[in-house]
Amino acid sequence: MTNSDSETAARLSAVRGRILAACRAAGRAPDSVRLLAVSKTRSAAEIRALHACGIAAFGENYVDEAEAKAPELADLALEWHFIGPLQSNKTQRVASLFDWVQSVDRDKIVHRLAAQRPADRVPLNVLIQVNIDAEPQKAGCAPDRIDQLADIILEQPRLALRGLMAIPAAAADGAARSAAFERMRVLFETLALRADGIDTLSMGMSADLEPAIQSGSTLVRVGTALFGPRR
Ligand SMILES: *Cc1c(COP(=O)(O)O)cnc(C)c1O
Repeated sequence: MTNSDSETAARLSAVRGRILAACRAAGRAPDSVRLLAVSKTRSAAEIRALHACGIAAFGENYVDEAEAKAPELADLALEWHFIGPLQSNKTQRVASLFDWVQSVDRDKIVHRLAAQRPADRVPLNVLIQVNIDAEPQKAGCAPDRIDQLADIILEQPRLALRGLMAIPAAAADGAARSAAFERMRVLFETLALRADGIDTLSMGMSADLEPAIQSGSTLVRVGTALFGPRR
């Protein structure tokens, strides 16, 4: 093990400890929260090192970057999540490379992903991204548009609707952030009544995974706390 590999293992065990403690504090089962490693700006070697510690799910924000790294990691059974803002001219590449897309927020993207998902692959897992703090520049649909978008996704045989994703406002203080997470919990529980298989509420990052888990997150997206500060 190199020095940096042991640092990776130590950071992973710290993050796992935080998730466990948050589950315990919330009265939730320890296996009710999955960990997604956010690997934007990280090398294929760093991803490989984390995979060697037992992590298989990785999140990427940029299609070019993911396409550059994926071939170097083709020997590993990785689960790739696209978590960045998605432009319609990139949907074809996203539909073939990724297993999940967490940033679906409009009809046009739904139709393109559904048409472009390769026929020899299992249906693409999708989450609807919700702009929970109504920030003008942020991706995500308004909460009152979730139902309509969900109906369109549920009609697509090449897509599997799995739930919701959100990134609360960066400037929010602890109370405002927890309130946003609680609004997401209600939206998710309401959506889950509409169809089978809606099992994923993606929220919580390095700085706020505890309040997200308190509010019912089932998937935390963690970059910095696993890999160290972004370069
Ligand atoms: C970068 C990113 C993360 C991870 O953020 P950290 O603070 O490094 O844990 C999570 N979700 C999304 C959508 C991101 O872009």
